[in-house]
Amino acid sequence: MAYIVSKCLFGYDCKYDGTNNENEAVKAFCRGHEVVLICPEQFGGLPTPRDPSEIRKEGEVRKVYSSRGEDVTKQFETGALLALRAADLSGCELCILKESSPSCGVHYVYDGTFSGRRIPSEGLTAKMLREAGYKVISEKDVEDIEREHNKG
Ligand code: SF4
Repeated sequence: MAYIVSKCLFGYDCKYDGTNNENEAVKAFCRGHEVVLICPEQFGGLPTPRDPSEIRKEGEVRKVYSSRGEDVTKQFETGALLALRAADLSGCELCILKESSPSCGVHYVYDGTFSGRRIPSEGLTAKMLREAGYKVISEKDVEDIEREHNKG
């Protein structure tokens, strides 16, 4: 039984700007567990670094556009499908994904205007994993769990 984890949280430079989101609480939380690192945007064939992207709702359809207006929905969907495949193959028990990402965001994503505003929603990969029945939490949830644990 493995934890599926956003690769940038483990310190890999797969973020759109070529940096990472290394998170010590997530790394500590995963100690002793098998970990499968995923980066759906790289899975989908996007380069690193790459233009930032945000989700825009067009009617009932969610599309993903880069800051230059390129439609990258297909790459994001491919990445989500491959992340789901990784979860299925690894017997995933928990997914820990990077909050606010258009792929990995668990509780929030940016609102599609590239203005820095976030709205309650989820990224394409987080949604696909959750709808497939996997438990999906963010690094913020892990930090809360660790904080509670350290209190007691
Ligand atoms: S797609 Fe997910 S794993 Fe990849 S850089 Fe973005 S937040 Fe991190």
